Amino acid sequence: MLAIVAPGEHEGWVHVPARVCVVGVGGLGCPASLALARAGVGHLTLVDPDRVDVSNLHRQLWHHPQDVGRLKVESAGQKLRAQFPSLGLALRPGRVDASNVLALFEDHDLVIDATDGVQVKFLLSDAAVLARRPLIYGGVLRFEGLAMRVQPDGPCLRCLFETPPVDVPTCAQAGVLGSMAALVGALQATLALRPEQEKGLAWLHVLDGWTLAARTVRVRRRKDCAACGEGANPVLRDEAEAAACPTPTSTSPVRSAP
Ligand SMILES: [Zn+2]
Repeated sequence: MLAIVAPGEHEGWVHVPARVCVVGVGGLGCPASLALARAGVGHLTLVDPDRVDVSNLHRQLWHHPQDVGRLKVESAGQKLRAQFPSLGLALRPGRVDASNVLALFEDHDLVIDATDGVQVKFLLSDAAVLARRPLIYGGVLRFEGLAMRVQPDGPCLRCLFETPPVDVPTCAQAGVLGSMAALVGALQATLALRPEQEKGLAWLHVLDGWTLAARTVRVRRRKDCAACGEGANPVLRDEAEAAACPTPTSTSPVRSAP
């Protein structure tokens, strides 16, 4: 536990998790891993199958021009080791799927969703419900950023979006502002240190990078949620199978910066 002392009503405590898994080492995962290491997290596991591309450099702070072509986990791990010599690190250059996602939760106190794919976000949320471990969801599209802490007995991603949206443009199509990814990644690290106080509730944080307005939306657990609702029995499915989901009732963006 770490004391945060601030004037007025914000004095309180935060909890620094010992072991955190960051899935995706791009626009969200880079700032999130930096903030978590600075906060004193003892061990980080980085998961990402991709290699550094020149188009990533403007928003992915661990990756430099000389890293183009390297695995992102190796590029980020090298910089984290240099800056935080006592930090425990594990690098997993692979994709998260239904066969390995539960182990990620069981091996860590908390998982950060810094991915770039709608389907994998729902896979992570479903696994968080099954494993009863916290997940910090994050997403950025154009000027909008979203973040929410999914924790046991609280609402999950399917309480927000009944099924994965199917018409979300890619980051390449829509564009991502690098500074918005940095904001949301740092916000995810903050949410990792601060458990929700009310059982069955969570706060969706919405950042508007154009107006600079921020708002929070209270999210309740839905009794009929297919993942965390009463009597629900979520089945973990891989991306290709999950893509056959019916048309969603909501198309709000949940995509993150790659
Ligand atoms: Zn739910």
